[in-house]
Amino acid sequence: MSTDHSLQQIYQRLFERYGPQYWWPADEPFEVIVGAILTQSTAWTNVEKAILELKKANVLNPVSLRDLPTDSLAQLIRSSGYYNVKARKLKAFVEWLGNYNDSLERMFASDIPQLRKELLSIYGIGQETADSIILYAARKPIFVIDAYTHRIMDRLGLNPDYGNYAALQTVFMSNLTHDERFFNEYHALFVRHGKEVCQKSSPFCDGCCLSNLRI
Ligand code: SF4
Repeated sequence: MSTDHSLQQIYQRLFERYGPQYWWPADEPFEVIVGAILTQSTAWTNVEKAILELKKANVLNPVSLRDLPTDSLAQLIRSSGYYNVKARKLKAFVEWLGNYNDSLERMFASDIPQLRKELLSIYGIGQETADSIILYAARKPIFVIDAYTHRIMDRLGLNPDYGNYAALQTVFMSNLTHDERFFNEYHALFVRHGKEVCQKSSPFCDGCCLSNLRI
């Protein structure tokens, strides 16, 4: 079976199994970006608590985050783990956003390669975070790769080089229509499947919707 057909099959089976995932869970694009930075190396439930604290303190906006002392910000996001480092990362992002007069609309006006290059130049923003921002905040079609995607694709025999972000991203970008809604749903479904079924140490292969897939 061709790779594009295999990828379509995987999507269809996951979607039939789980339905729409309604990602990203946030009220507006700036919150998506903050969440994408805070979710590094931690569970989403911890990020939700941190974002709630930022909202309660009325600082979930670029100006307030820039004005807030780094140690005060760190205390507000304590639940997300690595809070001192993440406070510096959030500060670095809002400092950079100042170049666009804090306008996400102006920031998102760049095309994907330019936006990605700029995001990757900011302290604390790696490939997964940059692509999450581009897909879920800017709503531009780029495929996000994460640990779940690596694991599931590897077990299905479709990961060309485990741990190589660019190589796996190319598999999706070269074989699928570049559609923002499709990429959004596809990545969210991988996360759901990786958390609930294709788990790291003990995958539940019996009854898995991808178990008898003909690749
Ligand atoms: S749970 Fe098993 S069958 Fe399903 S994708 Fe993971 S390794 Fe494959």
